[in-house]
Amino acid sequence: MSLPVLREPDDLASMKGMTFVPTMGALHEGHLSLVRAGLAWDAPVVMSIYVNPTQFAPNEDFDQYPRPIESDLEKAAAAGAAAVFMPDNELMYPADTPPACPPLPSVATEPGLEDAYRPHFFTGVCTVVARLLDLVSPCRMILGEKDYQQLLVLQAMVEADRNRWPQVEVIGSPTIREPDGLAMSSRNAYLDDTNRDRALGLSRAMQAAAAEPDATSAESRMRSVLEEHQLRVDYAVVRDSRTLMPVEGSVAGHRAIIAAHLDTVRLIDNQLL
Ligand code: AMP
Repeated sequence: MSLPVLREPDDLASMKGMTFVPTMGALHEGHLSLVRAGLAWDAPVVMSIYVNPTQFAPNEDFDQYPRPIESDLEKAAAAGAAAVFMPDNELMYPADTPPACPPLPSVATEPGLEDAYRPHFFTGVCTVVARLLDLVSPCRMILGEKDYQQLLVLQAMVEADRNRWPQVEVIGSPTIREPDGLAMSSRNAYLDDTNRDRALGLSRAMQAAAAEPDATSAESRMRSVLEEHQLRVDYAVVRDSRTLMPVEGSVAGHRAIIAAHLDTVRLIDNQLL
């Protein structure tokens, strides 16, 4: 089955009421689970594939980022997408009217998580998603909990400007994992067999955190597990699930959230405790 590939906003006009799943491609079961979740509504599911240059820092993997377009289109079709929107750079970032970044909500600037370690990141993400929402005009957008801070940031961005996006609901969908616990990610393609086992440090650390009596002991336990797997930790913390700010006392109901480097590959994960 060949899937319509849409390049212009006019091509989307027939898809009113749609459910939108934005991605950067290199699709895996995590992305496809978002399409399947979208089929719950009686509306076409449109996936976008666009590797957004502004959310990568100059030293990051923009050039290297995998772009297997043909197999992506097959996977999106098999999962039930009605069309794939693949805008070019000129549509996303017109030279004469470059899109502005909406004001960043506090969850994009206060927690000291991705905001601290990838300072360019939420500006890039909010700029591109605001532009996509304006072009696509969906009724709802489905995002993965895998990128948990990003989910909260985009929910807050849309909530903060109901004049611009009156109808869009931003919906989070659970993280899909490999059978051994590794969260699926396009960047897992960078891991070889030896590294693959070290990458399990993230899910093992969060499991260990769930068994600890309080946030302080959970955070130190996570660090030890990550270090045992020879991972270099950016952060490994227990935070309020809504604000991502620090918590005290029992970990129950809070989020463990981790970013760590495995050699040159940066991995993130999170889990409700
Ligand atoms: P990306 O292509 O990495 O920008 O991700 C596109 C969307 O897929 C985002 O909303 C991600 O949170 C989501 N996603 C990525 N990996 C997973 C996963 N393992 N499970 C669920 N959603 C995911």
